[in-house]
Amino acid sequence: MLTSGIDVRASRTHNVGLFATRPIPAGTAVWCPCTTCSRWTKEQVADLPPDRFERLDTYGHLLADGSLLLPCLGAYLMNHSCEANVLDLGLDFGVAVRDIAPGEEVTCDYATFTEDGDWSMECRCASPGCRGTVTTAQGADPRIRERWRTRVEAALARLPRVHQPLDDVLTELSEPYRRTLGGAHTLEEASTGSTVCAPDFALVGPGGGKA
Ligand SMILES: [Zn+2]
Ligand SMILES: [Zn+2]
Repeated sequence: MLTSGIDVRASRTHNVGLFATRPIPAGTAVWCPCTTCSRWTKEQVADLPPDRFERLDTYGHLLADGSLLLPCLGAYLMNHSCEANVLDLGLDFGVAVRDIAPGEEVTCDYATFTEDGDWSMECRCASPGCRGTVTTAQGADPRIRERWRTRVEAALARLPRVHQPLDDVLTELSEPYRRTLGGAHTLEEASTGSTVCAPDFALVGPGGGKA
């Protein structure tokens, strides 16, 4: 699911990307995996022809159970930046970590997709802090995680005070979101283990535990 106020346009760094059409304040939940997103089970993923898998994996991401999720409403077109304005560390949704102005590209950091293993790309984000090559291994780098954490926690502190277009879906699907609305704004308080790569709603098994 993707918040309103975002449009698909030609991108400076990529073919196309997502751009704000109105101000998106820091603390806005921008996207989340949801029940409307397309999903391929681990078995279906194994049966995909390699070129089709490669295309889907470029735009979608693997979940902890080996299934592949393609975020809905065009959210799969969100490009990477090493200075991303949307981050999801420890959360099952992406949150704007600074104010995003109309016309600005909305970006996330692909290194947060920790289940999408053994993956790398040459980065063209052109930000001052560009890491050159982006890898999933960077998602485990303590210095990078600390920078993400600082930004995410500042955003969570603002979340209850800004308008949340995705409130309905997140209230239903996301315990970290519910906890944040309830006043949690450290990741220790907000996180449950439900992340964009392991969302509770998608991975809860028959016994109620994680599949
Ligand atoms: Zn969705
Ligand atoms: Zn970069």
